[in-house]
Order: sequence, then structure tokens, then C-alpha cells
Amino acid sequence: MFECHAHMVLDGADWRAAIAGHTPLPDMALVRARLEAYRAAGIEYIRDGGDRQGVSLAAAQLAGEYGIEYRTPVFAIHRKGRYGGMVGREFSDVAEFRALVGEVKRLGGDFIKIMYTGILDFAEFGKVSDASPDPDIAELVKIAHGEGFSVMAHVNGADAVRVAVAAGTDSVEHGFYLDEQAMSELASSDTVWVPTVAPVANLIGCGRFPDETLKKIVESQVLNIKRVSELGGIVAPGSDAGAYAVPHVSGTQDEYAYLKTALSDAAIAEGEQMIRIKFKRQ
Ligand SMILES: [Zn+2]
Repeated sequence: MFECHAHMVLDGADWRAAIAGHTPLPDMALVRARLEAYRAAGIEYIRDGGDRQGVSLAAAQLAGEYGIEYRTPVFAIHRKGRYGGMVGREFSDVAEFRALVGEVKRLGGDFIKIMYTGILDFAEFGKVSDASPDPDIAELVKIAHGEGFSVMAHVNGADAVRVAVAAGTDSVEHGFYLDEQAMSELASSDTVWVPTVAPVANLIGCGRFPDETLKKIVESQVLNIKRVSELGGIVAPGSDAGAYAVPHVSGTQDEYAYLKTALSDAAIAEGEQMIRIKFKRQ
């Protein structure tokens, strides 16, 4: 199995406590225990979404001991004042972005992770925070590609995903609330979609958010996954492991179960291989 979107720094429960546990230095015993748990569950590939504490970088350096291929962007990158501070570093202009890309290279990162929009509001179907996509997406992707990096982008909403695809983004993460046009453009591109169903579906019944809204979001995402696959698009399994209600290992297994309601095993395997090929270590 592949986990194409994980956050080793997080624990699936309390992000503040999880990050505090890796401050000032990564908790290496915990990272090793998690890698061992992934290995024991047959998970052979992990692509991390990054963090500010160096946890995903440490995991990438140790993963070979566990027979796991591990890819890290070191930290995620977001525009100042927009979503992403929990796992990333910020830029104010394109020059600062370029400097952060240089930093990822210097630290030994494998690819660039960028936040294009914000996150879902689980209380209201269709609502996304920081919904208008970052204004410089095309330029940001060009810079990352120019340095030999692929781009993993956190992005939600049909319009923002269309911009992401047009810019040549290598993978679109989450991508909730697509419309037919966004799905057809995604499907006819080389961009891989990692639709992360688990962080929404696993909230159903927890009492924090209205179950009806959560179910509606999950149903629309599953229908969209089917549609994109029918149109010839590539979809890969990534659970956002570490996010709230998405524990490491069981979150990965949950995501497979959700994807299997929409995709054939062959389609999932194709998505895994496309992520593996596109996000090769530089
Ligand atoms: Zn994530």
C-alpha cells in the first residue's frame, strides 16, 4: 500500500500537542515507532506533506531502514496571511518563495508543497477558507519546476483546481467541490488527484460537525472520484494521515476502503505509480 499524503508530525488527535512533542527537536523514538507500524502494515511508500519541525525530513532519512520509500517537501509553503501556518513557512512575494525553494533544496527535500487555497468548512457544504487561489500559482510552479522539483498542491474548489491544472501542478491534494469542467480538465491533464476522503469521512459520528453536511461532502467527493476516473484521470490514495480523526496506518487503510467504493484496484495502482514516478527524489 501507498500513503501519498501523510503528516508524520501530527498524531490524528491534537495537533498542538503533537507539534509540541516534536519541539525543539523531532521525537525520533516516535518517528521510528510510526515507521515500524507502517512497515508492519505493508505500507511501502509514504509522501509527506511537510512540517516546520524537521519531522518529515528525519522520517525520510530513517525510512530506508524500514524498507519504506519516503518523500518529503521538508516544509509546506503558503502566502503570508493565508492558510498553511500549521505545517509550513510563509512568503510575501515571488522572491521570498524562490528563497524558500532554495532552502528546500539545501535541506535535501524531494519536492515542493504549496498551499493554493484554504480548507473546508465542515459546517457548510461548498465553503472553503481563502477560496480564491493564490494569485501567483503559474509563477510558483514555474520556479519549482525550474529547480527540478515537482509540485504537490493543497487546493480546494473547482476554479482553484482549474488554475492548478493549467499551471502544470503535479498533484492536486484534497480538491473538494469540483464541477464538470474542472473534472474534465483535471482528467485530460498529467496532474494526479489525491482526493483525501478520510479526513472528512472519519469525522462522521464524532459530534463535532453536522453529520448531514459531512455525508454530503463525502458523497460528492466519491462521485467526483468516479467521474474523473471515467474521464481518464489519475487518482491516488492519500489519507492526510495525522490530520484529526485520521491516525497513522489505520487512516491509510481507511482511505483505501473509501477509494475502493469508486475505483478499481488497477486504477488505484496506476495512481500510486504515477505519484512514485513524478515525486522521485532529486
Ligand atoms: Zn495535509
